[in-house]
Amino acid sequence: TSPRGPPHVALLSSPGMGHVAPVAELARRLHAEHGLTCTILTFASSDTPAQRAYLATLPPPITTLTLPSVPLTDLLPSAGAAAIETLLSVEAQRSVPAITSTLRRLKSTTRLVAYVADLFGADTLQAARDAGGVPGFLFFPSNLLMLSLMLHLPRLHAALPAGLEFRDLPDPVTLPGCVPVPGADLLQPLQDRASDAYRWMLHHAGKYRDAKGILVNTFDAAEPGAAAVFRDDEPWRPPVYPVGPVTRQTGNDGDDATGCVAWLDAQPDGSVLFVSLGSGGALPLAQTRELARGLEASGHRFLWVVRSPPPTPSADDKVDNNSSNPGESYYDGGGSRNGDDDPLRFLPPGFVDRTKEVGYVVPSWAPQARVLAHRATGAMLTHCGWNSVLESVARGVPMVAWPLYAEQRQNAVMLCEETRVALRPKVRGDGGGMVLAQDVAEVVEEVMRGEKGERARARVAELQETARKGLQPGGASYETLAHVVSIWRKD
Ligand code: UDP
Repeated sequence: TSPRGPPHVALLSSPGMGHVAPVAELARRLHAEHGLTCTILTFASSDTPAQRAYLATLPPPITTLTLPSVPLTDLLPSAGAAAIETLLSVEAQRSVPAITSTLRRLKSTTRLVAYVADLFGADTLQAARDAGGVPGFLFFPSNLLMLSLMLHLPRLHAALPAGLEFRDLPDPVTLPGCVPVPGADLLQPLQDRASDAYRWMLHHAGKYRDAKGILVNTFDAAEPGAAAVFRDDEPWRPPVYPVGPVTRQTGNDGDDATGCVAWLDAQPDGSVLFVSLGSGGALPLAQTRELARGLEASGHRFLWVVRSPPPTPSADDKVDNNSSNPGESYYDGGGSRNGDDDPLRFLPPGFVDRTKEVGYVVPSWAPQARVLAHRATGAMLTHCGWNSVLESVARGVPMVAWPLYAEQRQNAVMLCEETRVALRPKVRGDGGGMVLAQDVAEVVEEVMRGEKGERARARVAELQETARKGLQPGGASYETLAHVVSIWRKD
């Protein structure tokens, strides 16, 4: 006979705070709202103090377990050249035996009703099958646009003429119900069809169909067109369940070690632009300086999480936004990039001093959820990582879109053209692909005080309210998650 007790769910998170946090917050909701107990499996490569401290904020019915490390050195030739997507995928694939034995053990000690892997973990659905038919689901921490791209990727790939890249296509890529996305703005690993990262995305795309269902960290009102398309079940793909926004709460995002929250306390309401490029985003040196000059020229108050420029290639190289690689920082849980001991030294000489009346710069990391929730925060300049976007929406903060890697460019297209909660700085042909200081100043002025900023603020306030209601009993996302739980309880 199987063990009794509350239903138990095992969830796997890919390395990186941007993956661990939404999985952990989903577990928190499954427990608090639906009475489930959970085990969160994480990878040895992301077992950092920052991650441990964060996971320690979970209540006791949510257990965490670090999988044994698997060898990855064959993928890390001297310069660590393997793409992050390759590392995440291979680590997951090589962990299937350990996940299988963990699920077997959980099956014998708990009432295990489901296994939920995240976006790079589709290969590990095999572990759920091997462990004796545990129903295997996916939790997709990005949006429906991105999920649609993944589910349609085998078809899009087959239709891509030999020798061409997506960015060579004359027309934008149009996915059902979604905003058209120019090929050059599609998911970064799809920009080079000969790359390992491209092959891995295609591989995952095929495996997604093995899931019994896909939970997505978005909500209907954020992507109404795509939500309508996914609402009906279709035989070629698993059912899709928008259960978001599942976001980090204030209070579990670290202490105010840098004093930025105390600084915000002294600023007027809605007066501060928060500048944050995610857990791994960093700008080349020339772009960092141009951004600094633009913030200064705008005259607006700002709180800036500054990162050191990526070490390679030459930091002064012309900006190619597609090549800003999160590198190893995906594995360190954020906040302690290799050699990032004093990022402020890359700012223009005298900048910190000249702007000290209006600006506050913090090295590497800020408690973002708290900053966004602060009454003084008026807008956010973001790399458009989906967690950051959801956190901004959940706090009613309009955005300036500054996409860097992963699916951020397509997110930016959605946010600026469909959802209309973000503004985009001009990128001039003569600026070598860089956003120039005057254009930074212009977009900052517009988002803080302009008409477009006002419209984005009104729109994000509407979305914030819809999201809030959706998470209450009777709301769309709450009831969708309740429906998934009812399927798990039945199985
Ligand atoms: N984050 C933070 N402080 C920082 C930078 C990032 O707390 O200085 C958090 C942020 O709140 C979000 C996550 O790290 O929860 C970043 O996830 P996102 O999907 O936005 O971007 P990624 O880091 O995966 O590129």
